[in-house]
Amino acid sequence: MLDDLYRKLIMDHAKSKRNFRKGQGSHVHYKNPTCGDVMTLYWILNEFDEVEDVSFIGEGCSISMASCSMMTEMIKGKRVEEIQSMRKGMEQLIRKGEQPNVDLGDALSLEGVHKLKARHNCALMPWQALDRAFLMDEERRHRTENRVNGE
Ligand code: ZN
Repeated sequence: MLDDLYRKLIMDHAKSKRNFRKGQGSHVHYKNPTCGDVMTLYWILNEFDEVEDVSFIGEGCSISMASCSMMTEMIKGKRVEEIQSMRKGMEQLIRKGEQPNVDLGDALSLEGVHKLKARHNCALMPWQALDRAFLMDEERRHRTENRVNGE
């Protein structure tokens, strides 16, 4: 029963992708070579370290596209700190097959992917892209700070 519900949820997100559009602000390309999934993630962080806007475009298998769609819904309006714990929760769910302590929303429906080792990277692709995105933001901030300090 739950399996069926989860499968429907995954197919729904894969077919009608949420936040599937080019966005303003920064972007990062990401590729999952094991399956051929590709995505471009767009995001805007505001001064409070909250995700003001997030969207994506890309193509790939249902698991990867559903995961991208679910992630954008989950992180919008959330703080980077909260998002980091969601990311850890997703890793735990997919790689270890354990239920995490954080609310993963619709993405909890991806728990069955744990048994499909070859698809782990499909489900985690948007989260890895996001990790790179935040890293880029941090580096940019450091560069700006250095310029202000005259280094
Ligand atoms: Zn895939």
